Amino acid sequence: MENDKDIILKLRGIKTYFPVKAGILKRTVGHVKAVDGIDIDVYRGEVLGLVGESGCGKTTLGKAILRLVEATEGQIIYRGKDADEETDLATLDDQGMVPFRKRLQIVFQDPHSSLNPAFTIFGSLEDPLKKYGIKSKKQRRKIIGDLLEAVNMQRDYMDRYPHEFSGGQRQRIGIARALSIEPELIVCDEAVSALDVSIQAQVLQLLMKLREEKNLTYIFITHDLSVTEYICDRIAVMYLGRIVELCRSEELYSNTLHPYTEALLSAIPVADLDRQTKRIILEGDVPSPVHPPSGCPFHPRCPRATDICAKQIPPLKRYEIDGFDHFASCHLIELEAAE
Ligand code: SF4
Repeated sequence: MENDKDIILKLRGIKTYFPVKAGILKRTVGHVKAVDGIDIDVYRGEVLGLVGESGCGKTTLGKAILRLVEATEGQIIYRGKDADEETDLATLDDQGMVPFRKRLQIVFQDPHSSLNPAFTIFGSLEDPLKKYGIKSKKQRRKIIGDLLEAVNMQRDYMDRYPHEFSGGQRQRIGIARALSIEPELIVCDEAVSALDVSIQAQVLQLLMKLREEKNLTYIFITHDLSVTEYICDRIAVMYLGRIVELCRSEELYSNTLHPYTEALLSAIPVADLDRQTKRIILEGDVPSPVHPPSGCPFHPRCPRATDICAKQIPPLKRYEIDGFDHFASCHLIELEAAE
């Protein structure tokens, strides 16, 4: 999968800072550095997990890709199926974004709040179709019926209201809406986090089936590493607005390089006792992104921090393990390799 022509999205130096205002004159006195320099390629047809605790910047990054929040700096380069067609979405105005809104969609965590309770499902799902030129109501009903069937629901559910459905059904409707204008890339923002475990499994299976059928690419945002193992091809672990580890999914679970990832993984309950590791309890919360710690941003909470950690930011370095790229930013890796 990892060759240049398969890239659908290239992020280069993405930063998203929000100003902090204070005083009567509402002067800018600082910035919340929600996303602080992300470089990553997303490959066509893959599921890329973005994981980390709340406040790590993963949702802001997902929204910045879709231009739902503005990136302060950086390039969001979208590649069409013809690899020569490249567009930096960050440079487009609202009008310029219109054709790309069709290709990029999002599924939110809370399907209830993303469906208008006053509209039937048909009313909620027909808007994007109208916008993208499906003028005949009969045709819109046909498309929405097909979409509901694609997410394992009955066609006539389109005439019901959101409150008539369970959480899992509403999330499937949210997926149907994201699919309505045949996107290429979908950002799933904590898309199964609010669901019971058994319903989570059904929705994940559905997402995987649709990926196969429609050759979709997913950016799967979650705080839950027990979900990503089964569906993600690669996983990027984020901390305080930066990627601290990025590799193939199986590699992340079997050959963890970063202490933060280790701590996240140790919190997952596992049935297989051979895989059970000692729980690493991280002290305190994620520090404020207004005043990130010096050096490695993880050092105040890292159980393995050494003197250098508070002084120097570890770069995100590429390692090759079993022929595959594995990126991590930790001084310890270099120190241990030198021993
Ligand atoms: Fe921990 Fe230091 Fe590695 Fe940061 S660089 S993760 S503080 S050991």
